[in-house]
Amino acid sequence: MPKRFVRLLLVSGLVVAIAALAYMQGYSDRESGTSIGFMPSTMANDQAKPKITPTGTLMDPNIYYPGSEALGADEMRLISCGTGMPTAREYQAASCWLLELGNGDKFLFDGGTGSAARIASLGIPYEYLNKIFISHLHTDHFGDFSAYFIGGWLSGRQGPLHVYGPSGARPETGTKYAIEHWQKALTWDVEGRAGRLPASGGKVVVHEFDFKGENKVIYEENGVTIRSWPANHVIDGPVSFALEWNGLKFVFGGDTYPNQWYVKYAKDADLAIHECFITVPDLAAKFGFSVSTALEVGTQIHTPPEAFGKVMSMIKPRMAVAYHFFNDPDTAPPILEGIRSTYDGPLTLAEDYLVWNITKDEIRTRKIAYNADAWPPPGAKAPPPVDRSITKYTSDWIVEKNLDVTDLVQQIYDRTNKQYGTNEKPSQ
Ligand SMILES: [Zn+2]
Ligand SMILES: [Zn+2]
Repeated sequence: MPKRFVRLLLVSGLVVAIAALAYMQGYSDRESGTSIGFMPSTMANDQAKPKITPTGTLMDPNIYYPGSEALGADEMRLISCGTGMPTAREYQAASCWLLELGNGDKFLFDGGTGSAARIASLGIPYEYLNKIFISHLHTDHFGDFSAYFIGGWLSGRQGPLHVYGPSGARPETGTKYAIEHWQKALTWDVEGRAGRLPASGGKVVVHEFDFKGENKVIYEENGVTIRSWPANHVIDGPVSFALEWNGLKFVFGGDTYPNQWYVKYAKDADLAIHECFITVPDLAAKFGFSVSTALEVGTQIHTPPEAFGKVMSMIKPRMAVAYHFFNDPDTAPPILEGIRSTYDGPLTLAEDYLVWNITKDEIRTRKIAYNADAWPPPGAKAPPPVDRSITKYTSDWIVEKNLDVTDLVQQIYDRTNKQYGTNEKPSQ
């Protein structure tokens, strides 16, 4: 309800009354007790009151309205577009983080199942969403690949989608194999769009790097350096990332058991994301796991809250972000308690649609008023021409069974040609 509520802020005409009420509540309905970690650092600093008039448009400074704020030249902006789990959930897509830099660069870290709709709701032209860094090949970290690849192409990305991801112990368990075979699975889809969409957006470039690299540079462009190091998660292959730019350091841990590499290479992070799993009793109660499975998943394959806190106590980031758990009023308090038993620094218990504005002086955490009914935004450049010579069509024996609506279609063509000054003709 409150998420829908935030959305209403953006789209309804009752902005003033609703926002005034929400302001008085401090947007705390669902989060009371669950996001305690970030409340003091934001609410204490950001008490600027929204300007309320009977007829004016209200922009609450405690909410981020995508498209309404230019990023400072020295600033990073991180948006959580998936903080959940492989189990599908309306309010928490699987892992996905959008990092925007003041130099105009944008990076996706993970593209888990359900996350592409979150990204779409931010209204960012798709040509800027062309780089995705995958921490490992679990579907909750790259399951929306088709949506980024095909959906991005359809929605205006004019160049290839660049996918960066780790190798595996064998070629078959690496990113290149996974993405190339996924593309093969999309043969029918791509064949039908070729010749109808500009060819340049229908390509994927895979940049597979060695998962064993220790703080090795895997990307260096435009003043941005991204490094990776191994993570310990299920089988060989997963990695963690650090992005450095303009004296700021962002760390995304992916999934991992606590490890020495993370502690060593995430040091000095301005903002560090590390997984933090649901407590063992809640894994048993909510997922129906046996005690044995709950212990293995919650403490051996993933990082329990107490260990998350220990890691953050060792690296001391300016902001620690815990994710990879269903953030509910009953599951979050024991997670927070576990973290606070070993860490007392700045903390966000992540949920979808949070934004962190990161500068050298301040890290500001807010909620987002997103547009759940977004259409693709206009691109920055005119689309290139389409090569119709390669367009494929259905066979004649199928066309022969068309219902005869040619007169109706012709009228639409005539009307449209008149409206736009074009001379288009039906293909069937
Ligand atoms: Zn995983
Ligand atoms: Zn995961």
